[in-house]
Amino acid sequence: MTSATQNSRYTSEKVSTFSGLKCKECGAEYEAKAMHVCEFCFGPLEVAYDYEAIAAKVTRESIQAGPNSIWRYRDFLPVETDNYIDVGTGMTPLIKASRLARRLGLKNLYIKNDAVNMPTLSFKDRVVSVALSRARELGFSTVACASTGNLANSTAAIAAHAGLDCCVFIPSDLEAGKVLGTVIYAPKVFAVHGNYDQVNRLCSEVANTHGWGFVNINLRPYYSEGSKTLGYEVIEQLGWQLPDHIVAPLASGSLFTKIYKGFQEFVKVGLVEGKDVRFSGAQAEGCSPIASAFRDGRDFVTPVKPKTIAKSIAIGNPADGIYAIDIARKTNGNIESVTDAEIIEGMKLLAETEGIFTETAGGTTIAVLKKLVEAGKIDPDETTVAYITGNGLKTQEAIQGYVGEPLQIEPKLNSFERALERSHTLERLEWQPVSV
Ligand SMILES: *Cc1c(COP(=O)(O)O)cnc(C)c1O
Ligand SMILES: [Zn+2]
Repeated sequence: MTSATQNSRYTSEKVSTFSGLKCKECGAEYEAKAMHVCEFCFGPLEVAYDYEAIAAKVTRESIQAGPNSIWRYRDFLPVETDNYIDVGTGMTPLIKASRLARRLGLKNLYIKNDAVNMPTLSFKDRVVSVALSRARELGFSTVACASTGNLANSTAAIAAHAGLDCCVFIPSDLEAGKVLGTVIYAPKVFAVHGNYDQVNRLCSEVANTHGWGFVNINLRPYYSEGSKTLGYEVIEQLGWQLPDHIVAPLASGSLFTKIYKGFQEFVKVGLVEGKDVRFSGAQAEGCSPIASAFRDGRDFVTPVKPKTIAKSIAIGNPADGIYAIDIARKTNGNIESVTDAEIIEGMKLLAETEGIFTETAGGTTIAVLKKLVEAGKIDPDETTVAYITGNGLKTQEAIQGYVGEPLQIEPKLNSFERALERSHTLERLEWQPVSV
């Protein structure tokens, strides 16, 4: 491969700490190739690591001396050489959200803000950085994805940076910001007349016939490992401690399960002291197959047809749904859903209290956080982390008509003064108690 010596600081010497792929259901082991389904039981494959080797090599200090990106956790990621693609992904802010906490009645609330993740402003940059690094090692020259929007942005951008050919498949009804934020990188984009689940099915066939590296299909075991960094970073940013409770959005359920895996791994290799962490998941009511299975106490997820403004998490047939339910149950967490109106309120609440403009998925997370607090399902004293996974500039149509408008004035002082007075009057009216 031509890119092996691209960065002279790194060698292409093999220094992998992962041993291969392993079936999550029957434990069958495979070489670390581009495959994602077990040949015996059709269970999903996951990357397996040599944790003794990692524990012998990695310390808090060695991590802190690494790059200011997800690659500081390189030994926990499925790459074979140090020739990974580092576009500054990860190490996003973890902020103490005191004003939002006060509004909700919590004492120790943090926001993990992947709305400002690099390069395309969503958590998907994490999974794609890992998947394309591995794709290059496996010799793929064309990479592809089936996307609800953010994944298309990430795959197209990072493929452009790495000089890989790129093909993107999206449902044709995505938000304008998500489409523009993909085509700007000039990949081949196919807008499929169908929902995400239909796009995904089509892509499975294309992966078989064209031999491309689909980040979330045949490269899925590598891709999904990227989400573990959302767990590692929170531990490190909390001063090498685990939180008490996390709230994260669920689409396929992968992100949720990998934050859990990330927490467990850091305990296993001795980087952090173990403790119980509760895992709560958030879905939009218009696409809530995981939340309904959780509520009904079922061990299987019944697919639904999505209908919600939270398009980035609108997966009707979630691949990791049952694993997400299992984690929420065994950690004494919850999985809740909220309406589109509550999602918009959630977006506004986060913006007004913390100055963070998130997309619909983040609005879902904040609305579920609020719902869980009101139902007494989050203790006010718990150190709680809410994961904000995407940026509001990409889903502007969702809030159009639900937010304020600028005051229109002439370029004259008296026009400004009149408008200011009017706005004060309006504010006073809004605050007046309603008399009957
Ligand atoms: C893809 C996505 C998720 C969740 O993805 P999983 O399939 O559950 O891993 C959450 N938030 C945003 C903004 C996303 O784009
Ligand atoms: Zn199996």
